[in-house]
Amino acid sequence: LSGLIVLVIFFGCATPKKQDAASMVERIPEVEALLKQMTLEEKVGQMAQLTLDALTVGANHFHTEEPMRLDMDLVRRAIVDYNLGSVLNTASTRARTVEEWHTIVSQIQDVAMNETRLGIPVIYGIDAIHGVTYTAGATFFPQQIGQAATFNPELVRRAAEITAYETRASSLPWNFSPVLDIGRDPRFPRMWETFGEDVYLTKVLGVAMVEGYEGDDIGSPYRVASCPKHFLGYSTPLSGKDRTPALIPEIELRERHIPPFKAAIEAGAHTIMLNSGLINGVPVHASYELITELLKEELGFTGLVVTDWADIDNLHNRDRVASSPKEAVKLAINAGVDMSMIPYTLDFCDYLIELVEEGEVPMSRIDDAVRRILNTKFKLGLFETPVTHYEDYPLFGSDEFIAEAIKTAQESMTLLKNEENILPLSNNSRVLVAGPNANSMRALNGGWSYTWQGSNADEFHEGYSTILDAIRDKIGSANVIFREGVRYDNNAAYWVDEAFDIQGAVRAARNVDYIILALGENSYCEKPGDLHDLTLSRNQIDLAKALAETGKPIILVLNQGRPRIIREIEPLVSGIINAYLPGNYGGIAVADVIFGDYNPNGKLPFTYPMYVNTLVTYDHKPSEHQERMAGMYDYESDFAIQFPFGFGLSYTSFEYSNLSVSSDVLRPNGSINISVDVKNTGDRQGQEVVQLYTSTHFASITPDVRRLRRFEKIALEPGETKTVSFSIAPEDISFINAQNKRVTEPGAFDVLIDDLKATVNYTE
Ligand code: BGC
Repeated sequence: LSGLIVLVIFFGCATPKKQDAASMVERIPEVEALLKQMTLEEKVGQMAQLTLDALTVGANHFHTEEPMRLDMDLVRRAIVDYNLGSVLNTASTRARTVEEWHTIVSQIQDVAMNETRLGIPVIYGIDAIHGVTYTAGATFFPQQIGQAATFNPELVRRAAEITAYETRASSLPWNFSPVLDIGRDPRFPRMWETFGEDVYLTKVLGVAMVEGYEGDDIGSPYRVASCPKHFLGYSTPLSGKDRTPALIPEIELRERHIPPFKAAIEAGAHTIMLNSGLINGVPVHASYELITELLKEELGFTGLVVTDWADIDNLHNRDRVASSPKEAVKLAINAGVDMSMIPYTLDFCDYLIELVEEGEVPMSRIDDAVRRILNTKFKLGLFETPVTHYEDYPLFGSDEFIAEAIKTAQESMTLLKNEENILPLSNNSRVLVAGPNANSMRALNGGWSYTWQGSNADEFHEGYSTILDAIRDKIGSANVIFREGVRYDNNAAYWVDEAFDIQGAVRAARNVDYIILALGENSYCEKPGDLHDLTLSRNQIDLAKALAETGKPIILVLNQGRPRIIREIEPLVSGIINAYLPGNYGGIAVADVIFGDYNPNGKLPFTYPMYVNTLVTYDHKPSEHQERMAGMYDYESDFAIQFPFGFGLSYTSFEYSNLSVSSDVLRPNGSINISVDVKNTGDRQGQEVVQLYTSTHFASITPDVRRLRRFEKIALEPGETKTVSFSIAPEDISFINAQNKRVTEPGAFDVLIDDLKATVNYTE
């Protein structure tokens, strides 16, 4: 026996045991004291999250105009009888004022804190993904894809800070943002919720957003807990449609999908939401490997893991890995889920209690989940300040915040074509403004704006300018004719459009100098945004063609969540501005660019495809050629694209010179400095995004043709030159090898900035 003991001790010392996930979580004395007092019932209740709509009078009234009223019997049943830990959103009803939010959250917290044995506050979560989207009068920024086009982490951080302020002003402390899925497939209906296709850009902007939301201390009355989502691999389903299976080999997960989440965790993100879909046949919500081993143990995430909408239920009803709802609960909780968003019914709690009593879910797992939840509530200061007072938030919706939103929208505007410098137009121009997006606030904002799918209700849009309004303000109504030509049917499917007056638009074009054609998409989100065809809708293409026949020059404004194919009409227009989903101040930003009050500097955060069958990213493999641009394609096996990643024109011009590297040898633990001169060779002030790529010559797996490693946005006066410097270390050029390990292999790589190139050797 003693020999055995010695052996055990010996092995115990010799094999360093991987730290288990639960033991890594912080022990906060107040939380530990609470945990000791809690019954099993009180614990499992904390793990459930219901939608507000389930707690209201006449629950689930869809798009009602009625002011929402809590049904206090339902609230008490959920919170007092079931110890409900969390509430979210208000997806199916209308947006509220800060005052209304204060009332709703106060009523909920009163019950939680005064009518339950332990008085634990509820944590309220919300999708405040481009501003506090369910609060009327809040400051709305461009959606993430537009923020990505700014290539400006400081703007993204500031937008998040302002959003955090206004979210807290609404008594809401937890924000289901940012989306750190990578937007590599424009068929995916949530592409616009991402920072685009690049891993490094997503990492940098994701960290800026998390830091903007959370600051140093989420207990501050101006900060919220962030929730990077949707871990992991949500954005690249094979079919391109929402919540459908993805096949992602580990090498690709580690190369592209994990790094943004890893960076966000290192930046301190307190919560994470899971991917609703399957990876390699396994629902993420049932994956011990992904949630516990990867997220909690390997990436060291010690915060709270929340499911996506009804996804424990989905393990049984949709994904069929659990033969009963109760088994679904067992699978998910044992896999490492801490909180169930929308368990549908609070049977979830009953099942979980039974599962613990039957020994199917260990008590230690419940304690771990509840500790993570209570730690978050504690750090948010909810025990002391369960609601805020909007009077304490004088900057809510202020001019100061609006100025930031305008700036962000302006910096997102991406000029893709400017034939013979047709832009900017003079203020004396007479213009026809046409297209279904010309006079729509809903389209400018996109989904998650006042309501889940984006709202058309006029009450939310008073005081804001559509593209048409902003153009009228700029050059005077007398110079502007408006004919939509094609319009969305806001009452039918989310973006069905009809060609109701193309000829009227054509007739009107005869009397103007230019046509400003605002095309794209109506707002949508998630499954309702699934597409049969990425091509821009036929009606809109017909409108563009008919207008082009008038011979009047066309400026095309694309107001869309993802790059819809425009191959047929691109040659017919003289200028193209991609506006993405720029938010409430997007109309102003578009008009500022068209009439030259703002010099555009946005860059595409994705590769703009030319064909539906040719979806390729800039960081492709050498066999996927994509270097040809519009009009230059000739054979169909080519990977012709419309516009490249990182592309965007300016009204001035920049010249790059003097690329220099501090050494042509890079060593382990060393770094090299790279500098380049950028000169504004045009005649107006402008901003430029200096982009540094590397390209590895040879490696043990086929290297990507190039990868973005650094970028910096600079402002230059006419004639001014600035030297921009970057530093690169071996880990910056590392990649995941065939054994799924991150390595930097010896060998040569090119450093590429604009058209300049230097070659460096990495030697061990
Ligand atoms: C979405 C999430 C969102 C959640 C709560 C889900 O349907 O996938 O991104 O945070 O709803 O609204």
